[in-house]
Amino acid sequence: MILVMKRGVSESLIQNMVARVEEMGLKAHIITGTERTVIAAVGEERGKSKEKLESCEGVEKVLPILAPYKVASKETKPEPTVVRALDLAMGGGNVGIIAGPCSVESEEQIILAAKQVKEAGATGLRGGAFKPRTSPYSFQGLKELGLQFLAAAREETGLAVVTEVMTPEHVEMVANYADVLQIGARNMQNYHLLQAVGEVRKPVLLKRGASASMEEFLLAAEYILDQGNQEVVLCERGIRTFETHTRFTLPLASVAYLHERTHLPVVIDPSHGTGIASLVPSMSVAAVAAGADGLIIEVHPDPSKAMSDGAQTLTPEVFAATIAQCRRVADALGYELH
Ligand code: PEP
Ligand code: MN
Repeated sequence: MILVMKRGVSESLIQNMVARVEEMGLKAHIITGTERTVIAAVGEERGKSKEKLESCEGVEKVLPILAPYKVASKETKPEPTVVRALDLAMGGGNVGIIAGPCSVESEEQIILAAKQVKEAGATGLRGGAFKPRTSPYSFQGLKELGLQFLAAAREETGLAVVTEVMTPEHVEMVANYADVLQIGARNMQNYHLLQAVGEVRKPVLLKRGASASMEEFLLAAEYILDQGNQEVVLCERGIRTFETHTRFTLPLASVAYLHERTHLPVVIDPSHGTGIASLVPSMSVAAVAAGADGLIIEVHPDPSKAMSDGAQTLTPEVFAATIAQCRRVADALGYELH
């Protein structure tokens, strides 16, 4: 249920209602909008009376939330959520650019990549220190040392660090270094991991599982939101289909669909979405045209030497040209690209 509070209602009345909701055995999420505050009361609603809440002081009306993802739903919060980390901003007309190598390989590599992507206009730096690889024999990442190199790259450039966390035990460690915690496609339905990042007060970039439906994707986001972390960014990174000409199939309609259903920002990953570097520039431009709130793109100082995902990785030069084109589209549509 959503409790729509009256305009200008006092903080103590809001807190009273939070207590009433909790007494009923439901969880209360306070969502402060520009117009008014709403309290999302979520949990098992059977046998809980809406009328009892409706008659309370400060409450204007109580509405059901029809979507299964309650806090993520636009019914709960119609205005877009803007997620920020340092100069990176995604949502509400902000198109955030995150770029960098698939994996952190050395301090020199990540610092050079950071300088190059910053020069081209990125405000976020990607780079995996913990790598979820399909084969156990592939490079697994530099782990904590990689996180230290990412922090050094942030120190040099001011870019916000976006990096993956693969297990609940590592959440605290990764959060000590990262500005945005990435949940990889393979972990989208790792519910303990989702709950663990939900307890952190840092933004989370949640990637869609390669075979997850939109509803499963939004319910995965709901696990994070349900723990009180309101800064969730959804990332469409392509899905598995019968098609083999690309590594995955990248559905750009996800942007428009998700914007209809949720207030959370939607970012596109054209690198994993296609698996082919030559397709990345046009898909990046198309994503901005479709209204994406950000891009996450793999860029390496020398893709031919990349330890992972070289075939889908852009050179710094191509990345710079791609962002320049994206900026023209963003300008034409009235979005702020940064
Ligand atoms: C990545 O971002 O390098 C990555 C492993 O992505 P995904 O989880 O989408 O496969
Ligand atoms: Mn990769």
